[in-house]
Amino acid sequence: MKWKQQLFGMKAYQPGKPIEEVKREFGLDEVVKLASNENPYGFSPKVKAFLETDSTNHAIYPDGYAQELRTAVAKHLGVKETELLFGNGSDDLIAILTRALLYPGVNTVMADPSFSQYSHNAEIEGAEVRKVPTKDGKHDLQAMLAAIDENTSIVWVCNPNNPTGTIVSDDELQNFLKQVPSDVLVVLDEAYFEYINAPEFKDTLHYVKEYPNVIIMRTFSKAYGLASFRVGYAYAQEDVIAKLDPVRGPFNNTVLSQKIAVVALEDQQFIQECRTKNENGKKQFVEFCNKHGLNYYPSQTNFILFEVKADSDVVFQEMMKRGFIIRSGNALGTPGYIRVTFGTEEQNSKFLTLLEEVLTEQG
Ligand code: PMP
Repeated sequence: MKWKQQLFGMKAYQPGKPIEEVKREFGLDEVVKLASNENPYGFSPKVKAFLETDSTNHAIYPDGYAQELRTAVAKHLGVKETELLFGNGSDDLIAILTRALLYPGVNTVMADPSFSQYSHNAEIEGAEVRKVPTKDGKHDLQAMLAAIDENTSIVWVCNPNNPTGTIVSDDELQNFLKQVPSDVLVVLDEAYFEYINAPEFKDTLHYVKEYPNVIIMRTFSKAYGLASFRVGYAYAQEDVIAKLDPVRGPFNNTVLSQKIAVVALEDQQFIQECRTKNENGKKQFVEFCNKHGLNYYPSQTNFILFEVKADSDVVFQEMMKRGFIIRSGNALGTPGYIRVTFGTEEQNSKFLTLLEEVLTEQG
């Protein structure tokens, strides 16, 4: 068959191991997954109540234009409905952007480490991937500018960055956007937007008005706790959205997902509560790192990447035996580190007690 050459040797995205598989493998009754930056508090009680009484007819195709959800998100952001694109999670948006703008002969610039789907999709399309090392876990925007040439099509700014959790400040971003050529699309991936509390980050929506080459992506998978429902959205100028829309799959959000995202959006109090609890979780981990002299990256997200002074794969394995699924830095391009999503206060305490035990054994 006439496969794209680049598919040889490529692997599917490797997410954290499923909870049920770990339970079976290690004979555990309870396993907690702190590996995929999901919300440990689930989703809004309003969504739960909605689901209990929902009578959606799943035999009918969804509205591909997601009109109701579009109206709700446009109102929430204070933007026009025609400036939005919806995806089956932001993963789908990344694939749409890539399919529209990347092909053999062009290149795409991103930080390293950063979210793996940018390079994964670019490789499938046969574009050149230019990875620019982060500085202290932060995007090195000057070096990223230097990596751009006349064949660059997309630049990815993961803000906050996965897996380091760090942010690009508003000053840095402003300076960067001024210098990026106007025919290069800048993707601001703000999957963790709702968790940011640093004053040096300022809302980015106005950049779309100022720059026709800026697109912002956000998701319902993280703070909204709806990862399983797969809803992400992008905001850009109308002309950009109009170019991307034909690339989108015809019915890429289910009827139920669209309805639920509308309900979730209405409960901003839930998001606020999760933000507060997330800060407390962050404190627990930062205190642990400080107590044990472990380096960590300052997190503006619901996870933290920190040093374990041991083989990350061994720590990953030992924590799994004890009922916690995390990410080994070896899988994220940060050996010697682990990435852990903040759980509930109780989960965090249990996790850190067990980790102390593992690190003592390994030390
Ligand atoms: N961008 C970043 C930075 C992420 O961390 C993730 C989830 N791991 C995604 C996008 C994709 O999220 P989703 O497809 O669930 O919206």
